[in-house]
Amino acid sequence: MAARPRGSTSPQQRCPACRAPLLVQWVGHTAALQARVDLPPAEEPRPYGPAAAASTPNNLVWCLPRHAHGPLRLRWTTGRHPPDCPHQHLLTHRCPPAEPTTLF
Ligand SMILES: [Zn+2]
Ligand SMILES: [Zn+2]
Repeated sequence: MAARPRGSTSPQQRCPACRAPLLVQWVGHTAALQARVDLPPAEEPRPYGPAAAASTPNNLVWCLPRHAHGPLRLRWTTGRHPPDCPHQHLLTHRCPPAEPTTLF
């Protein structure tokens, strides 16, 4: 990986295993939880419903508002999160199944 400038405001990283773009961030003020979520392109729709359906108590749904300016900041979702929320809704990153290697 190319060296990232120190002090960068960008929290974007890549999964060391599968190189998927990730957003890794401490979320919360009193009891912060480290979220490590897939970071899809900004224009990719990620509605709340399917994300919530795939979530578990150990795999929470995060809401990611995209602002024209300012850093990406994940937000907690609660049981009352609006189902038509226009933001992207992200789950903890999981590496896709490894592709069978053709290298010998
Ligand atoms: Zn939302
Ligand atoms: Zn991965």
